[in-house]
Amino acid sequence: MTLTLPFDNSYAQLPERFFTAMAPTPVPAPRLIRLNARLAAELGLDAQALSGPDGVAMLAGNLVPGGAAPLAQVYAGHQFGGWSPQLGDGRAILLGEVLDQTGQRRDIQLKGSGPTPYSRMGDGRAWLGPVLREYLISEAMYALGLPTTRALAMVTTGQEVLRETPRPGAVLTRVAASHIRVGTFQYFAARRDTPALQLLADHARARHYPQAETALDLLAAVTAAQARLIAGWMGVGFIHGVMNTDNMAISGETIDYGPCAFMDAYDPGKVFSSIDQFGRYAYDKQADIALWNLAQLASSLLPLIDADQDRAVALATGVLDGFPDLFRAEWLDIFRAKIGLASAEEDDAALIHHLLDRMAATGADFTNTFRALSEGNPRDQFTDPAAFDQWAQGWNARLACDPQDDETRAAQMRAANPGVIPRNHRVEEVIQAGVAGDFAPFETLLRVLERPFDAQPEHAAFAHPPEPDQVVRQTFCGT
Ligand code: AMP
Ligand code: MG
Repeated sequence: MTLTLPFDNSYAQLPERFFTAMAPTPVPAPRLIRLNARLAAELGLDAQALSGPDGVAMLAGNLVPGGAAPLAQVYAGHQFGGWSPQLGDGRAILLGEVLDQTGQRRDIQLKGSGPTPYSRMGDGRAWLGPVLREYLISEAMYALGLPTTRALAMVTTGQEVLRETPRPGAVLTRVAASHIRVGTFQYFAARRDTPALQLLADHARARHYPQAETALDLLAAVTAAQARLIAGWMGVGFIHGVMNTDNMAISGETIDYGPCAFMDAYDPGKVFSSIDQFGRYAYDKQADIALWNLAQLASSLLPLIDADQDRAVALATGVLDGFPDLFRAEWLDIFRAKIGLASAEEDDAALIHHLLDRMAATGADFTNTFRALSEGNPRDQFTDPAAFDQWAQGWNARLACDPQDDETRAAQMRAANPGVIPRNHRVEEVIQAGVAGDFAPFETLLRVLERPFDAQPEHAAFAHPPEPDQVVRQTFCGT
């Protein structure tokens, strides 16, 4: 073993019932497809070493580097509202944690690294399609300024995995503030293991919310972080698609890029996921579902909040009751910025909703309409421009009593309204090319998505909505 990383592992110090200590399962022929050199530098890792033979072996799960304490985490969760008492890393191994250049603790996890005791019926593997998808979309989310897990690297394994047909196997290296989920708390709460809950809550507080002193503070901090996160998703037309409690991170980062998608035409009830038959995780349901998930966290934390259960419930309910206002405030901040307002007025929410209603009625493109507002040509986005003109009268009247000068406003609006998002048809296109062995389209798209707020006239095609025959109607879980 020649490769050593500056690991500083804290989760591995928790009691044995928090995880299964185990190494990834080796693969026959690792090949590095992409290394995120900038992220490596941010983590204080040597990109050159990571791209070398030992580095690639590590990223494929063939070599456990010095300092690692590999393990699969256990958790539980509500999936589509149904309770699963035991889930866990069924195809992931946490190698360890490093302190990044700012002192933040970050998990380094391999996803697609072979079976674990939590694999249930699965093979523990991932195939290249969903790995390319997660790499692209998580890095796009980061560039959009939203809290998210990151992609450090992507390797193919030289091994086929069996899905509907045989597919090329791949491993994604995911970096996260932590992989502690609402479902991690639920796992111990369901077992009435209060000592473990206390340890987990202390660990999560120290790691993510050092200012939080109690379990109730922790609940409040997670509630605020989720209100901010979901409002951020709404602002870019993102639909997570599988907001199960095991896919909600305590850190407030977006996690689990399965059937997620960005909307093209604005449709508040939009659902992409093939398995979300009842629209539980539709675009406009995401705040409600976040609150539902937070209620599961709250109920898990009750024994730590107060020994008197009635009192614990009252305190937790008080925190959860604050969520709708927190979310509304975050949402308003974001959408005010999107329409160029620096000040706040009573009727702003109504003004924004009127625009959204008109966009929904005419199927206007979500991203391009807001971007066009910043560039002065929004009428073109409406099949019925008169509908926009009518709204614009109210908007102009409102802008007239906003303090910003035009130049500042234009710059601020461009920074609040991305020109490019990972459109589904583009993502599908680069996956198809990648699976056929050509990663050049992936690289091009990734580079465009890394600068979503910049004018990129040479890449104007990436801002175009899909042609009717390019529309992606359904997305699938990344298994
Ligand atoms: P997800 O839908 O990705 O959140 O996964 C839900 C659960 O299924 C998690 O515990 C995963 O680890 C597990 N899982 C998903 N895909 C696989 C697979 N191919 N092999 C083993 N476990 C899997
Ligand atoms: Mg998951």
